[in-house]
Amino acid sequence: MNAERGVADTRAQVVKLAGDLGFDLCRFARAETPEHAAEFRDWLDRGDAGEMNYLARNLERRCDPRQVLPDAKTVIVLALNYFQGARKTRPVTAGVLPAKDAAGTAAATGRIARYAWGEDYHNLIEKKLAVIDQFLRECGGGQKCYVDTGPMLERDQAASAGIGWHGKSTMLLNREFGTWFFLAEILTTLEFAPDTAQKSYCGRCTRCIDACPTGAITAPHQVDARRCISYLTIELKGSIPTELRPLIGDRIYGCDDCLDACPWNRFAKVSRETAFAMQPEVAAMKLRDYLSLDDDKFRRLFCNSPIKRTKRRGLLRNVCVALGNVGTADDLPALEKATSDSEPLIAEHAHWAIERVKERAVAANC
Ligand code: SF4
Ligand code: SF4
Repeated sequence: MNAERGVADTRAQVVKLAGDLGFDLCRFARAETPEHAAEFRDWLDRGDAGEMNYLARNLERRCDPRQVLPDAKTVIVLALNYFQGARKTRPVTAGVLPAKDAAGTAAATGRIARYAWGEDYHNLIEKKLAVIDQFLRECGGGQKCYVDTGPMLERDQAASAGIGWHGKSTMLLNREFGTWFFLAEILTTLEFAPDTAQKSYCGRCTRCIDACPTGAITAPHQVDARRCISYLTIELKGSIPTELRPLIGDRIYGCDDCLDACPWNRFAKVSRETAFAMQPEVAAMKLRDYLSLDDDKFRRLFCNSPIKRTKRRGLLRNVCVALGNVGTADDLPALEKATSDSEPLIAEHAHWAIERVKERAVAANC
């Protein structure tokens, strides 16, 4: 067998192994400076990344995979569909409760971004990557594996590999899976033939931009993270700016509005991976139930969930904002209790929420 044939066989074996491990897509890009490295630097310079200072660390490495792994030749990009079908709960608007459930209770449950419904994808995907890494080592390769945490402009690498195209929402889109997939990358010293990039199928559509509740998509392909609900409810560690709180609605962890609006998501298929389904215990929780979680209960409930990222203080802060937006008089006792929480961040947001709920009650009686 000649050397070229051997490389082609190894490539095909990687694709087969990735499929056997449950990945939905596996494609290849050259380990080169990503297409939008300059735009990424401009975005950081404008301050649009907010407090995500970690993005500016390792900037040179992030913009050149060969600085992460000398002799890197290829980025293998993998995608794993996490779509779990329609939401079980409907979005709630101020003071309008969802229909009563079987137990006859009615209260807002809060919205969680789909990617965070189930198990933490990092652990699950890292285990799969380790299997491919082992195979590539046996083929003589040196690798670095990443699941959205490494110094990598992963959407650029994924677009170069033809996993999808850059949507105007800045998310990557694929014609088969829409936007609902996790990305992972294996940087390797082995040289494989690259795949070709996909063309954009956004056309004249602007639905994601129109759907954004905070105007965070300031132009096609440009998001000001400081206005984005995903940033405000997950990445921001401190107080949420009061002018943005009403726009957050009943979202307590992340936001899918620009994704839900995307017409390509009409074609999304339910994932084969059941680990990403909503935990039943979380699905059953009303917003005010979160306020009774102490540190131990929080850890137990979210120890294997992406939601642990915000810690208790961040999640309960978000819950207070959501109750301020959609809560009713029935939520006031739980909010009153939260005003004396040992965590000042939670207490401050609980005070704000109480004022909002009371203002709504007064307006409703006028
Ligand atoms: S995640 Fe939500 S807030 Fe952020 S850009 Fe998309 S629609 Fe806007
Ligand atoms: S909503 Fe429209 S413009 Fe936005 S990413 Fe989807 S197809 Fe592209």
